[in-house]
Formats: sequence, structure tokens, C-alpha cells
Amino acid sequence: MHIAIIGAGVSGLLSALELVEQGCQISIFDQQQVGKAASWAGGGILSPMYPWRYPRAVNELAQFAKTLYQEWNHKLQPVSAIDFQIHETGMLIFDEEDFEIGLDYKDRYQEPMQYAEYLQREQLEQINPLISDQFKHAIYFPEIANIRNPRLLQSIEQYLKQHPNVQFYQHTEIEHLDIENDQIKSIKSKSGQNYYADQFIIATGAWSAKWAEQLELSIPIQPVQGQMMLFKTPPNWLPTMCMNKVMYLIPRMDGHIVCGSSVAHVGFNTEPTVQTKQDILTACFEMVPELVNFPIEKQWAGLRPGSPDGVPYIGKMPNLNNVWANFGHYRNGLCMGPASARLLRQLMLNEKTIVNPQAYATDRLKQYLSAV
Ligand SMILES: Cc1cc2nc3c(=O)[nH]c(=O)nc-3n(C[C@H](O)[C@H](O)[C@H](O)COP(=O)(O)OP(=O)(O)OC[C@H]3O[C@@H](n4cnc5c(N)ncnc54)[C@H](O)[C@@H]3O)c2cc1C
Repeated sequence: MHIAIIGAGVSGLLSALELVEQGCQISIFDQQQVGKAASWAGGGILSPMYPWRYPRAVNELAQFAKTLYQEWNHKLQPVSAIDFQIHETGMLIFDEEDFEIGLDYKDRYQEPMQYAEYLQREQLEQINPLISDQFKHAIYFPEIANIRNPRLLQSIEQYLKQHPNVQFYQHTEIEHLDIENDQIKSIKSKSGQNYYADQFIIATGAWSAKWAEQLELSIPIQPVQGQMMLFKTPPNWLPTMCMNKVMYLIPRMDGHIVCGSSVAHVGFNTEPTVQTKQDILTACFEMVPELVNFPIEKQWAGLRPGSPDGVPYIGKMPNLNNVWANFGHYRNGLCMGPASARLLRQLMLNEKTIVNPQAYATDRLKQYLSAV
């Protein structure tokens, strides 16, 4: 089976990986360089930030993140020569109003990745001595890890590029879907080239509403900008991830610390701003005051594929026989990525599914059908 995938972010690349491993032939298209959009810009936390604030459907996919990434890193690394570093730091959360609800959540669902403990100041200092004195307690999620997402994308790309059944088309914007008898026959690039396949996957992240008119669906995906900053500290300087008021610090193994992030509805604009930089810095120095002594290496913004409730669309598209969705992961596309791609593969190949697919079904798009 020949499958064309539009979009080479984490959703498209992991879908390619899942399917090529099952013997499918893959053509994967991106309007820019592979893996340089939201999936590059994100933080790589392998859990929704406050799991209880998200629908169950988000957490159900996210709970597979660490184990599936461990499997993929093990498989890809010998070929790609890239370790995307699953960094087991755990996460401290300082928002007091979330303590009780977070601990209840842990008791209710008993998911290993969301095991949590309440910490008094003394225990908190043992786990992370850099936390500001103003925080007298915290909840601690020891199992939450982070990955180096830019390296993840590179590793998958390298692995797929050496595979005889995979063809990459970078800088190839797909503009037109040639639909006939409830099927896509071919897709056409901006430069007028037609590409044929048996099945087609839409993994176009924040750009997914673009297909609404051609598919006669109103696709409720919006770009939601998030800004980030990068500090450089000595290796292993900050022992845990830290979160307060939806701002976080994510330590990498080599001492880089990713800080973010903001939320803004500014269309497809990816220009960082001075004001947001200041807001991020204030929030991060409040948690870890000594961070002020280290250099800022970078600032950037990415576009999350915002969907109404953060639950992605995964499965066959309504009214078409050979078109599949894997988009709309909003703030959690890196942690939902591996299970989303596995679910998509299982649906496409009629296999038993990793989770109940109903919550992700694209018939949720039907209510947006335009009157034509
Ligand atoms: C600042 C920030 C922090 C984040 N932190 C985290 C986190 O810690 N943990 C987490 O799980 N998630 C996080 N996320 C969310 C996560 O990054 C996204 O949900 C995820 O990357 C979406 O992946 P995607 O492949 O669907 O989209 P993208 O990575 O955006 O990929 C879509 C691709 O489709 C291509 N494309 C679009 N239209 C076309 C077309 N017509 N033709 C060809 N190609 C096309 C684009 O060029 C792009 O490369 C964060 C996001 C941001 C912005």
C-alpha cells in the first residue's frame, strides 16, 4: 500500500514510521523543511501540563509517551546515530490550588506516569535545592520525563531517509486534493506537480483548516502561538522540571533549560516579542532565582494546532474512503504523538487499537459540515 502523508511534524513523521515498519510505502510532503514547525518549537514534556485540566482522551494517549519513545529511541538510534534523550527529571508543580485535585487525580486513575507526592519545604529542597524560598511546598511527579524534540525529529528523519520505502518531498506545499468518487485520486503541489497514492494522511498541524473548503468540512483548528526561551547552565544544574502558573522550566541533560510558554492568538505570526520574553523571564526567575546568572541563548515561537478541547482528530475522514486524519493535538502533540500514530496505523490496517478510538473520531467534524 502506498501512503502519502501531508505534513512532516511529529504527527506525520511518527505516522510514517509506524506504517513503514508494517511494510507500507510512504511519500511524505512538507511545505518547509522537515520537522521545523510546532514539533521543533515545543518543550518536549511527556505529559499534559496539569493532566486533570484536560479531557481523559488526551491523557489516555499521553500515558504511552515515555514507554513508546523509549522503544523508538532504542530502535532508531543505531541507524540515525542520534539519541533524543529521554530525560527522567520528574516535575514539580507549585500552584497550590492544584495540589488537592492533582493528588486526587493520581488516586483516581492510578496511572504510573502520573504518580504524585505532596512535598513540604524540607523534602522539596532535597529534590531541588534551587527553588525559591517563597515556595513552601509543591506536588512532585517523579515519573514525568522530557525529550529533546528537535533531536527526535532529526532521528526519525534520518531513519526514514535510509529506508528504501520512504520518499521525502521537502519545500513542497500541497495545495489541491483531487477528489473523485469519494476518494482522493492525487494531490497537487503549489508548483503544479501531481502525486498519486492509495491512501492519504492529513498531518498538517496548525494549517489543517486549510482543507475545509475542499473537504466540505469546517475544520476547527487554529494556530495558537507559544513563545519559548533557552538558557545555558552547567550540565545537570537544575534537577527537575518546574511549573507554576502554566509557565515551566525544562532542563536538558547538557544544561540547556527551555523556558516557556505563552499563549497568543495572532494568526500564523511566529515573531517573539519583548513583552512576552519579559513575562517568561519573570515567571522563571520567580521559581529559580539563580537562573538570572546564566546566558539566554535563544528565543522563538511556534504554532500549536489548537483544537476546541485539545483532543486530536485521528481516523478516517468523513465521507471519503482513503483519507485519514492525524491533527489537532494543541498543547500535547509531542506527548500524544507516539500513541496517536500507533492508533492511526491500527485503524488503517484494521488492527486491534491501543485505546478506544471513538473519542478521536473525525465524525466530530461533521457538525461543521458547510451547507453546500
Ligand atoms: C511553545 C510550544 C511548546 C510546546 N510544548 C509541548 C510539550 O512540552 N509537550 C507536548 O506534548 N507538546 C508541546 N507542544 C505542542 C506540540 O509541539 C504540538 O502539538 C505538535 O508539535 C503538533 O505536531 P504536528 O506534527 O501536528 O504539527 P507541526 O509540527 O506543526 O507539523 C505540521 C507540518 O505540516 C506542514 N504543512 C502544513 N500544511 C502543509 C501543506 N499544505 N503542504 C505540505 N506541508 C504542510 C508544516 O510545514 C509542518 O511542518 C508545544 C508547542 C509549542 C508551540
